[in-house]
Amino acid sequence: MLRIEHLGIAVKDMNAAIALYEQLLNTPCYKQEAVETEWVNTAFFRTGESKIELLEATNDNSPIAKFIAKKGEGIHHVAFEVENIEAEMKRLEALGFELLNQQPKNGADNKLVCFLHPKTTNGVLIELCQEKR
Ligand code: ZN
Repeated sequence: MLRIEHLGIAVKDMNAAIALYEQLLNTPCYKQEAVETEWVNTAFFRTGESKIELLEATNDNSPIAKFIAKKGEGIHHVAFEVENIEAEMKRLEALGFELLNQQPKNGADNKLVCFLHPKTTNGVLIELCQEKR
């Protein structure tokens, strides 16, 4: 794993959260993007070499809506940047980690992503991400 690429934070109201995080981080949101396959809107902020990703549900079936219903707003996932996502997926699966998707899928911010089930990672949803190239 190369670094923590971003932290994902589940929010109820994206516009309010963007305004708040712009103040908190003292930097503008540089990208907003909908991931329609996941029913989420995302917004990104740069913080040094890492990023903050805000996540808002677009409907009740969204994983973000379910997360907020269960746990409330807050940190949703930790994303690690990897050099080769397919190799990392194979390595981790062989070690007994449960992958939530068997093929890399398209994520926000020009990434290929894979999630690991929190039950195999001490309750933390882990995202692997690789820059598309
Ligand atoms: Zn993410």
